[in-house]
Amino acid sequence: MNKVHVKKGDTVVVLSGKDKGKKGKVLEVSPREEKVIIEGINMVSKHVKPRKMGEPGGIVKAEAPMYACKVMLVCPKCGKPTRLAHKIMPDGTKLRACKNQKCGETF
Ligand SMILES: [Zn+2]
Repeated sequence: MNKVHVKKGDTVVVLSGKDKGKKGKVLEVSPREEKVIIEGINMVSKHVKPRKMGEPGGIVKAEAPMYACKVMLVCPKCGKPTRLAHKIMPDGTKLRACKNQKCGETF
């Protein structure tokens, strides 16, 4: 059972922490851990060891996974953060729908 409400490629807004209010694109979803990696969000410095003798090591910035419950989906239709509704189409296809009033679009 996948409890993560967002998918790879979704745009989300961060609800808490140092990146609160920032938007980013979901790069990876880890359903087992219920974590997501979001482009440009929750950046951490990683120390990189030199791979070859004489090559300098360094510090690179990379996104760290964060709990999916700390982000909210941004509706691709109205551009606002939203909760999700699910619609099942007559042919059995499951669609996600925006719960914002005046929107209600499926995607
Ligand atoms: Zn919407």
